[in-house]
Amino acid sequence: MSTKTVNAPEKQHDSMFEAVLARLDVAAKIFGLNDNVGQVLRNPEKMVRVSLPIMMDNGKVQVFDGYRTVHSTVLGPSKGGIRYAMDVNSDEVNALAAWMTFKCAVANLPYGGGKGGIKCDPKKMSVGELERLTKAYAASMVDVFGVNKDIPAPDMGTGKREMAWLLTTYNKMVGEDSPGMVTGKPITLGGSRGREAATGRGVMVATIEAMKKTGMDRKSATAAVQGFGNVGLHAVRLLASKGIKILAISDHTGAYWNEKGFDVEAAMKFAQGNGGVLKGFTGGTEINNTELLTSKVDVLVPAAIQNVINEEVAAKVQAKLIIEGANGPTTAGADKILNDKGIVVVPDILANGGGVTVSYFEWVQNKYGHYWSEDEVNAKADASMEKAFDAVWYNSQQHKTNMRIGAYITALRKLEKGINYRGFY
Ligand code: NAD
Repeated sequence: MSTKTVNAPEKQHDSMFEAVLARLDVAAKIFGLNDNVGQVLRNPEKMVRVSLPIMMDNGKVQVFDGYRTVHSTVLGPSKGGIRYAMDVNSDEVNALAAWMTFKCAVANLPYGGGKGGIKCDPKKMSVGELERLTKAYAASMVDVFGVNKDIPAPDMGTGKREMAWLLTTYNKMVGEDSPGMVTGKPITLGGSRGREAATGRGVMVATIEAMKKTGMDRKSATAAVQGFGNVGLHAVRLLASKGIKILAISDHTGAYWNEKGFDVEAAMKFAQGNGGVLKGFTGGTEINNTELLTSKVDVLVPAAIQNVINEEVAAKVQAKLIIEGANGPTTAGADKILNDKGIVVVPDILANGGGVTVSYFEWVQNKYGHYWSEDEVNAKADASMEKAFDAVWYNSQQHKTNMRIGAYITALRKLEKGINYRGFY
């Protein structure tokens, strides 16, 4: 694919939201975005910050910071996950919310973008503390959330358990059962089959599509995956199921390399019986996370945290394809280096859109009160990812730019129309 035009921002940004805007600006220029529309997209619609005083197990009160940003509702109610991590802050939440706007538009979903989070370390909290914290957050956000307003879902550090707590509190406060106000919930409470693996599945489909477009042979391909949580684990499992050899895996406790390819089932079993982490795994030799990111593989899947592929790492990346399972794993400065090296990057706003797509299916099923089989969900999700991939590829080819900017352009086409139709006060 062509790497000729300007398609990466010029400078590095400390603020994650600024880094989103930097990419938006590049795409807006290439696309010729109307300035009025650009201004709307540069500013989140709503930013909420709450203090959450929680009685901890030791009898002392600890006050946590909670956030929710609605970046855009132009194409529908805002949609986006809730993150529990120590580095959660308003800048990060704004950036993640904006990405959701673009991601939902790329996936062709009738949603805008939102994101939320609590600054906390869930690994250091008891289940009781987490339940109280989640319920306090839900109570504080009761006016923000809503099935046709703003629909949360899991993100880093949260899962179906937290979604069940959110739903329960919300239902109690509004006095009705509204299962579609949250997605990624347990199946017994109205969750969708296929949701848990959906993001990893989308990563797998995006990988296969990218291989087809770039002429890479799947049968002899090798991959390294960073992160062994919801996205990483299912990506590893599903890529392996397609015959792709997984040579490197990792989580926050360690990274491992196996020249012959991992026994993925064994790694999953090990983590399951080891508090969910890979620490001490003997199925490969220990490396560090930078070695994983720069290892000699065909496909690199960062599926853990943001900003791991910075300029220094980008200069050493050996993979030919990067499929961004995580949100924002590549810094704006690294984009240019990867681009110059001819590495095809399937951007987050396309590659990890499988999760929000099945969240949308969950919402539709909740609205209808009629539920689909896992095969139905997977078939619809795969078709949706293939279509989104083609649209992004087409736009990147048309504008002679990389897939990241092609993805932004795909989103901007819809957002510009939506904003213009809605008009201004
Ligand atoms: P998770 O909490 O389930 O897993 C995160 C994984 O990353 C864990 O294995 C953790 O050990 C690992 N990790 C954390 N810090 C690390 C480090 N410094 N080095 C290596 N590994 C590290 O989270 P998740 O839901 O899998 O989300 C991962 C990424 O994917 C995030 O960027 C998230 O925003 C994005 N994402 C998630 C979904 C979803 O449906 N869960 C959807 C779209 C995007």
